[in-house]
Amino acid sequence: MAKIKLQPKRNFGRKDGCRRCGRKRGMVRRYGLRLCRQCFRDSAPALGFRKYS
Ligand SMILES: [Zn+2]
Repeated sequence: MAKIKLQPKRNFGRKDGCRRCGRKRGMVRRYGLRLCRQCFRDSAPALGFRKYS
C-alpha cells in the first residue's frame, strides 16, 4: 500500500498551537503571544496585562 499520510495543505493559516498547552482553539495571537485563551488568562497578569472586568 502506498503511504498515505494526512497532509493538511493549509492548516487554516495556523500551524502553531498554544506554546503552553499546544491547543489550537481560541488562540490569542494578539501581541504575538501565541497562547490560547485559557493560557492567556493564566499568564496575562505575569505579562503585564490587567483584567478589565
Ligand atoms: Zn494554552
